[in-house]
Amino acid sequence: MSNSNAVENVSGHCLCGGVRYEAAAVRRQLVQCHCEMCRRAVGGVWQATQALREDLAIKDDGCLAWYRSSGKARRGFCDKCGASLFFDHDDRPTMGIAAGTIDQPSGLELAANIHIDDAADYEVISDDVPDFRDGQHGIAYP
Ligand SMILES: [Zn+2]
Ligand SMILES: [Zn+2]
Repeated sequence: MSNSNAVENVSGHCLCGGVRYEAAAVRRQLVQCHCEMCRRAVGGVWQATQALREDLAIKDDGCLAWYRSSGKARRGFCDKCGASLFFDHDDRPTMGIAAGTIDQPSGLELAANIHIDDAADYEVISDDVPDFRDGQHGIAYP
């Protein structure tokens, strides 16, 4: 894939290194989700990109666990170090990947804030990128 909306040959891992992954390509646009579910799941704003499932190879030492956080999605985390890594929506061809687990330099670019109505009272939402009240940021990928 050669696509300006993509960063190619990305790798990443959790804090302890028990879960590692490589992606042939991920979406360049990083989205920050301010919803309450993400906040409680990761302890802050969920900053994520996406990869097509066929582009993503996960190497797991046996500590990758999944929490079904809603009827439509599950969240992947390391049950050794507690890091949040993945958001897996049943109806999407892509897997959400926590930007903070991607090796630097990531090449990602902050592109949108979503669910800003649910932001915690201490959050400062930058005016530099578009804000959306719901999850519909409209960024297509691939
Ligand atoms: Zn870990
Ligand atoms: Zn969210």
